[in-house]
Amino acid sequence: MQATATKVVEFERPQMETGGSCTANAWAKVPATPSPEERAQLKARIRQLLKEKQAVLVAHYYVDGDLQDLAEETGGCVSDSLEMARFGRDHAAQTLVVAGVRFMGETAKILSPEKRILMPDLEATCSLDLGCPADEFAAFCDQHPDRTVVVYANTSAAVKARADWMVTSGIGLEIVQHLHAQGKKILWAPDKHLGSYIQKQTGADMLLWQGSCLVHDEFKGVELELMRAEHPDALVLVHPESPEAVVAQADVIGSTSQLIAAVQASDAPAFIVATDNGILHKMRAAAPGKRFIDAPTAGNSATCKSCAHCPWMAMNGLQNLLHVLETGANEIHVDPAVGKQAVVCIDRMLDFAAQRKAKVRPSARLEDEQQLFAGIGPA
Ligand code: SF4
Repeated sequence: MQATATKVVEFERPQMETGGSCTANAWAKVPATPSPEERAQLKARIRQLLKEKQAVLVAHYYVDGDLQDLAEETGGCVSDSLEMARFGRDHAAQTLVVAGVRFMGETAKILSPEKRILMPDLEATCSLDLGCPADEFAAFCDQHPDRTVVVYANTSAAVKARADWMVTSGIGLEIVQHLHAQGKKILWAPDKHLGSYIQKQTGADMLLWQGSCLVHDEFKGVELELMRAEHPDALVLVHPESPEAVVAQADVIGSTSQLIAAVQASDAPAFIVATDNGILHKMRAAAPGKRFIDAPTAGNSATCKSCAHCPWMAMNGLQNLLHVLETGANEIHVDPAVGKQAVVCIDRMLDFAAQRKAKVRPSARLEDEQQLFAGIGPA
């Protein structure tokens, strides 16, 4: 059962400083592509500084491929937001450089308040975070005190401080299943598509905040049907932040890590990918020689604010990464009182994930993942 939804909360507000929109502002701040010589120099200097400063680079799958490569080459990590949080918390380095968007840096700080967390650009944010202001969200929670509050990772520290559980797309379905089995009614925020997908899969009573990811919200169902007809040999991979009409055509639905795992496990010659196209860097490395096609964002209602790439993720570049390593600029701060409250819902998710992992026999983990994919096909 899906409870009555909330009103739509816009994220694309005009910016006081520039008069432009949030996304126009973000695109204007995307670093220029360096020349091959500059690129080599920047990468060499970054490698050297990470070593000198004993810092570790933690990057998301959606950022520039050079940053992903640097993270892996230098002992950091490239992953989804769940693994980024775990890796940053467990690594011995006292300085973490988080290449991604602001909520990822905040989560790292909340989990490791004693560490220094730097980000290439502190203005790199997320439409889900922008569309869920802490004061409006708190008022919404106050109206529904009988519900367990479950928030997606893509929220501010203040919103997490108000939540009972934090989830990522990799584990949200299982956590809601667990809560539903306990008879809990859920207040879900902020992504309406992911919330609706989880609601349908679990049958849980969920009241949904109406936020959306600017990248996934633009994928178009009708155009995807036409694309599938043109590429009948392609497997359709969909992140569940996408609209229902897109999710319904998926061969595999999953988080970024799950979609990459599906590419590795599949013998299909081609993939239509409905998530941020930054992920193609990893997918191409995982399956060289295969064809990867961006799912369509063009259509009658197209605005192409993203064209399958997040402007805030694109703000992470070699130049600003080097700048923060040289200067120590762009440090993330979280109010310690807010952090102390917010860590409760994050730890709950990490404990749940650890317990789940411990329960699965190591030899059964692969089967478990395969079942996850096998059970999901075109609706
Ligand atoms: S891709 Fe979407 S969910 Fe991810 S940071 Fe960008 S706007 Fe947010």
